[in-house]
Amino acid sequence: MAQFTVPSHIVMGQGALNEAKLYIKSYGKKALIVTGKHVAKSEMMKMLQDMLKEIAVEYIVFDGITGEPNDQMIDAGILAYTENQCDFLIGIGGGSPLDSAKAIGAMITNPGKIADYNGKEIPNKIPPVVAIPTTAGTGSEATKFTIITDSKKDIKMLLKGDYLIPELAILDYSFGMTAPEEVTAATGLDALTHAVEAYTSKKATVMTDTLAVSAVKRIVRFLPIAYQDRTNTEARQEMAIAALEAGICINNASVTLVHGMSRPIGALFHVPHGMSNAMLLSKCMTFAASEVSERLAVLARATEVATKEDSDKIAAAKFVDQLEKICAICKIPTLKEYGIDQKTYESSIDKMATDAIASGSPANTRKEVTKDDCIRLYKELYQ
Ligand SMILES: [Zn+2]
Repeated sequence: MAQFTVPSHIVMGQGALNEAKLYIKSYGKKALIVTGKHVAKSEMMKMLQDMLKEIAVEYIVFDGITGEPNDQMIDAGILAYTENQCDFLIGIGGGSPLDSAKAIGAMITNPGKIADYNGKEIPNKIPPVVAIPTTAGTGSEATKFTIITDSKKDIKMLLKGDYLIPELAILDYSFGMTAPEEVTAATGLDALTHAVEAYTSKKATVMTDTLAVSAVKRIVRFLPIAYQDRTNTEARQEMAIAALEAGICINNASVTLVHGMSRPIGALFHVPHGMSNAMLLSKCMTFAASEVSERLAVLARATEVATKEDSDKIAAAKFVDQLEKICAICKIPTLKEYGIDQKTYESSIDKMATDAIASGSPANTRKEVTKDDCIRLYKELYQ
């Protein structure tokens, strides 16, 4: 049995924002635009505001998302939404404002505090969310997940449920052309992690397999180009498509060990999400290789790093090498290079391993993962 869930509408291409205005008009009278300080001052924000004026939709800009979102930012967003009597949300920017728009929406129609929903399904329908990504990576525009940090407990909470899927995703290729190279790297490698994890997940289906292979091919080819030449429009577009494909993949096949172990590193040491995934990706795939070599071999052949003549085992190893090469091209640092103190890190390993297993994601890995496995992998990761 397989299900497949996507946003109600996806509008993509040059000028997509303008193309989508009739959908937006149908969602309500007053939008809360959720974003960060930088995007709030950008040309694309001006285009969005001009378009809303043109279709006579009122709006309030909430630019309080200053990095990966936590419960306090969400509470401030909820207040802005209710005080201004908004009736739908527009998230514009990277994964953080998009995740935030979804979380604010969730807390408008669901009682209690956001922490009450950690790891649980959101039970009540939320106001319509329009997602306008300006970086190619998280795929939040297509997913039923949102990750919010619990600022008291230092954990990244995972909220999920079909109601969190945006009504409308707009991928306007004129956006996202200005991302700094470290953002291109981290978000692009997040998308690669989504595609590889979905393809090797226990929950993979024929539909997600097709999109995962497609996304991996695009990313392996175009991420190094997008990273090295930020003016390359073709590479940016291909990365935007790949990020959407990979987002749809995890929406339906979930993530596995990499994301499970990555979130605690992000919560405790503030490593950007895509970067901590990238640090873990080849190590976790090597761990799972005995159960997923056939699948990694398919990805190796699809990306032409292995041939039909290679055995699955050899092809899988070549694909893991390829993952490492892309991380090296994108200058992904080690934990030590990132500036994390070894003693502090090592004293946090037990908590991180507990939180990783508790998130449920490692259980989607085709090889059984125990807390001891996570402890060993966290230790090796620092070396
Ligand atoms: Zn991710």
